Amino acid sequence: MSIPLPDDISPLDELLPDEPLLMMGAGPVPIPERVAAANSIVINHLGDTMAGVIEQVKTMSRYVFQTASHHILGVAGPGSAAMEMAVVNLVSPGDRVVSVCNGFFSTRLAEMATRTGGDVLRLEVPERESASPDAIAQALLEHRPQALTIVQGETSNTVFNRYLPEIARLAREHDCLVIVDAVCTLSTMPLEMDDWGVDAVITGGQKGLSSIPGVSLVAFSDRGWEKIIKRKDQLRHWCLDAKLADQFWYRKSYHYTAPVSGILAMHEALRLICKETLPHRFERHLRCSVALQAGIEAMGLSLYVPPEARLNSVVGINIPPGIDATELLRYMSNRYRVEISGSFGPPIIRIGQMGEQSRAHNLFRTVHALGSGMKALGAGINLPSGVAALESSLEHFEFGDD
Ligand SMILES: *Cc1c(COP(=O)(O)O)cnc(C)c1O
Repeated sequence: MSIPLPDDISPLDELLPDEPLLMMGAGPVPIPERVAAANSIVINHLGDTMAGVIEQVKTMSRYVFQTASHHILGVAGPGSAAMEMAVVNLVSPGDRVVSVCNGFFSTRLAEMATRTGGDVLRLEVPERESASPDAIAQALLEHRPQALTIVQGETSNTVFNRYLPEIARLAREHDCLVIVDAVCTLSTMPLEMDDWGVDAVITGGQKGLSSIPGVSLVAFSDRGWEKIIKRKDQLRHWCLDAKLADQFWYRKSYHYTAPVSGILAMHEALRLICKETLPHRFERHLRCSVALQAGIEAMGLSLYVPPEARLNSVVGINIPPGIDATELLRYMSNRYRVEISGSFGPPIIRIGQMGEQSRAHNLFRTVHALGSGMKALGAGINLPSGVAALESSLEHFEFGDD
């Protein structure tokens, strides 16, 4: 034995903070107690109990994705693994692809489509704008793609692709498969997979669904599945091969050992969504996000994206002059045990409104920590106005048909 026993290992309770941090950033988000409890259980991955759990995960997913599809698959991996699963199964080498690039995550889809051998046209959307159906119609005519990739919400710069239903319809008219990343948006705002004609919807665990990171879902339409079945070439990916995953998800047989605890957690997260119902859940997210935005603006800060293109699931805040974002985040975390996110790219900080983050008590704590942190670092902030606006917006919110 040439490697000595390490002498500096601490038990977890010495590594973790005394008081858990309130996770109000761009994910992972807090998980409900029942999800945490489910995640601590290990069962036989091929037994009858697991088979019953899988049936329910698929049934509940159909509601959450709003699809009658029988091609919903789980994947042991991050949201990115679900993105890759959708892309590599639906894009054959040589296929033409239009990738709508709004920012960091949508560009990751373009990168994956390129790596799998697609002939990718990147449609760069101007910063702080939703993708325009006109620009996409043009790209569809010029490039004649077999697939289009797009995000519903771009977590990185907090842009919302508001015209997704119209874009999906245009793509369908061109006989083009539509791949939608809904990692931060699924179950926080409407997404009608079947009605909009989407062929693959991607989600992760740790954002909209308020489950754990590392177990994700992807739903394929019948049209998408037909492409998968008819492909003659062999996929270069083994773990992400949808036909192999189908063995476990629909035929009770072995592909790889499923992440049983994570699937149990996903079951609980989906069950809580079904119990709440989608309309109530959308209303809760909208009410909380609008109130948070009002509170932030009333304290004297400004938001990065104009209202027409603004994502509600993640709120991007401009950093006032003279404020160092890293220092602010550290202050909020150390002093108030509230974690929010910096950014990859634009000069903003980000607060999430996904799943358990969208609760009034979490909003008050976050707005206070943000305002107090800004003040401590020297920004001109009116914290009482922010808290008052948050309170008033929560109280007077009415659910319209946005
Ligand atoms: C977080 C996120 C991803 C990636 O998820 P990981 O679990 O980090 O791989 C992809 N797309 C969007 C829109 C996201 O917000």
